[in-house]
Order: sequence, then C-alpha cells, then structure tokens
Amino acid sequence: MQSTYSHAPLASSSGARLRHRVEKRLRTLHAAGLARTITDLDMIGPVTARSRSGQIYTVFSSNNYLGLTHHPKVLQAAADALIKGGTSSTGSRLISGGIARGSDLEKKLARFKGCEAALLFNTGYLANLGALYTLLKKGDLVFSDELNHASIIDGCRISGAEVIVYRHNDMTDLEQKLAAYASNQTAVKLIVTDGVFSMDGDLCRLPELAALKNRYGTLLMVDDAHAEGVIGPGGRGTEAYFGLQGTIDIQTGTLSKSLASEGGYVASSKEIIAYLTCRARPFVFSTFISPHDTAAAYAALQVLQEEGPILMKTLREHTRFMREGLHTLKLPVLPGITPLIPIIVGSVERAAAIDAFLKERGILLSAIRPPSVPMGTARLRLTLSAAHTKPQLQQVLSLLKEAWQQIP
Ligand SMILES: *Cc1c(COP(=O)(O)O)cnc(C)c1O
Repeated sequence: MQSTYSHAPLASSSGARLRHRVEKRLRTLHAAGLARTITDLDMIGPVTARSRSGQIYTVFSSNNYLGLTHHPKVLQAAADALIKGGTSSTGSRLISGGIARGSDLEKKLARFKGCEAALLFNTGYLANLGALYTLLKKGDLVFSDELNHASIIDGCRISGAEVIVYRHNDMTDLEQKLAAYASNQTAVKLIVTDGVFSMDGDLCRLPELAALKNRYGTLLMVDDAHAEGVIGPGGRGTEAYFGLQGTIDIQTGTLSKSLASEGGYVASSKEIIAYLTCRARPFVFSTFISPHDTAAAYAALQVLQEEGPILMKTLREHTRFMREGLHTLKLPVLPGITPLIPIIVGSVERAAAIDAFLKERGILLSAIRPPSVPMGTARLRLTLSAAHTKPQLQQVLSLLKEAWQQIP
C-alpha cells in the first residue's frame, strides 16, 4: 500500500511527459558533450582551491581579480559583521533587511561610479534584470550587443521592449539599426552593453557609443561587472577608463568579482534609484544580502581605494606577461588589455580534454562551452588575479604549451 507521505514526484501524466522531455534533452546534451556537472571545491586562498579528495589546485578561472576574498581587512570586516549582525539579513530590504551598512555601501558605490545614487541587488544578474524590466516597457526599443551577458539578454526579454541585437562592438551595424528606428519619436530607446565583455574580455567602444547616443537621443546602460577593480583610474571601470565621466545613464555591476563578496548594484540618478527601490521586483521580493556580504564588499571597496594602485599594477603586469607569453606560444588568444584572456579552442571535446589535462596537473582553467559562447568557439577562459605569483603564471604557460602539442 502506498503511504500518503511517500515522496513520488512526477508520478502524474504531466509528470511522465515532463520526464520524457527532460530525459530527451539530457540525452542531447550528453551526446553533444554539453552536459554539465559541479566540481566540489573550497577556496582556501585567493587563487587556491581544495577538492573533496584533498587535491590542491591553482585557480585560473575565478573572478577574484584583486585577490580580496582573503584580504585581512575584508575578512575581519566580514567576521565582525557576522558576529554582530548574525548570519542573515532576515528579510527584504524594505521589511526587516534594511542593514545600515547596505546604505553606506550604496553611497560609497555611487561615489565610486560617479553617480547620484545606487541600489544593491542580490546578484549582478538580478541588478541587470531588475533595472531593465522595471524601467523599460512594451513599445520601447533596446539596442543590445550580441555578446552581452545573459542577465542583460533576459532583462531585455522580460521587459517586453523590442530588442534589436547589433553585431558585437560593430558601431556601423548599431548606427544602421538606430537610423532605421529614428522616425520613432515616442519610444524610450536604450543602448545596452557589457563594459568588459564576459566571454571575450574586450571593451565596449564607449566614445563611439557616446556619440551615437547623442546623435540618436538614446540612453546608455553599461554593465561593469568585469571592469570594476580592473580598468580605469582607481578601478572605477569603463567611464573612468575612457575619461568620459557622465556619459553612461545607467551603470550596473557586481560585488562578486573584484569586490570579493556577493551581490550586485545599479547606479544612476536619484530618481531612477528611488523608482527601482519601489518597483524593481528582484529587489522588493527577495531577502537582502547578508550582513557579512555587505561588510565584505564595503571593506573591499575601501581596500581598493587604499591599495588599489599597487594591486592593479600587479594585475596589469601579470596580464602583460601572460598575454605576451601566450602570443609567443602562438596560441589563438583574443586580443585585449584585460586579465580575462580567452584562448579559443573550437571543439568542445578538445577544450574539455585540455581542461582535464591541466586539472590533472593542478591547474583549474575551466573550458567554457555553448551556450555560454557561440557554437564552435569553445574556449579556455583564463583569468588572472593580483594574487597569482610569477612562477604560477610560468607554470600555466608551460602546461598550456604541452597541452596544445599533445592534445589533438
Ligand atoms: C558575472 C557577470 C554578471 C553577474 O554577476 P553576479 O553577481 O555573478 O550575478 C553580470 N554581468 C556580467 C557582464 C558579468 O560578467
């Protein structure tokens, strides 16, 4: 006899249909080498991970650009906040989760980005989603770079605005598309782009975007997730890098990369932020980040201001060394200036084989495959941190050379 309480998921006829669908899709993913699994790891240092079995790895695929996850001041601030504030913010920011440090962090972020105000979200993903679908509506036009982060793509879709995708960093294509819609004088028009592209590591063309924005009367939104702490004076990101302060209408970013925490933010005018505070559903209906997340990001931003120049100098030197080394080895690296260095492998199988080769030798440099990148462009996305050492960089170069020669 079946117990009333036995767990029998997917037992209904709909369950059978869903099971059939999921099994079929999983089979397709496995056949294409695109099925994913999670590797259990603990980060025991800024660029050091330990597996469940105790294997130690040097990590070349995290976003811990400045190594601040283990900076003594950041750790201390997070620990203090944890002891004083407990393990959870316990509610939405508008209910019980109104951690004071959250408002301090927003003020600091707003200053950092040269904006009037900022609002924190639980992740960078949700910041993009929240900004786009709260501000745009049906009838609006959003011009989106084809390589924009998934969170931008999803936010555009949910907003109901018409999405016009332009070729990656192709300003001629963008201008043609803007011109095609020039007669529409009622829509809110927005150009949206990553500042540093998350899979290619190149920069948006801010000067040209600024000119097009002015010529066609659009707004400009830039996601600086990979730019903060990496480019521009003080690590302030894309606007600062190009010396074009005040060009971007809406800036978004994350606390989870250089800022060594978890969370995301939108920075813009006071009015935009006030409205998002009332109406951005990912903000209103979700428990706020924890006291220790907030404190860690606040401290990381402080450390960036105090020690940023020296950390960023190390990161720049590592970047130059690695990019030159890869160039000398004639590996197919996408050009750029950032510590996010994609080595295009092509086939998913070869990328996976090189990934495995490096892993056996203590290096984590994860293969990135579709749907994160277009078909046929599976890659190793090497990211550097100021916390890496020169010998670690030399080791990864010589292992990459070996892998490239040995793996067909
Ligand atoms: C990582 C990333 C995000 C998401 O940030 P999370 O805080 O990890 O959710 C958004 N946009 C870009 C460009 C990113 O690289």
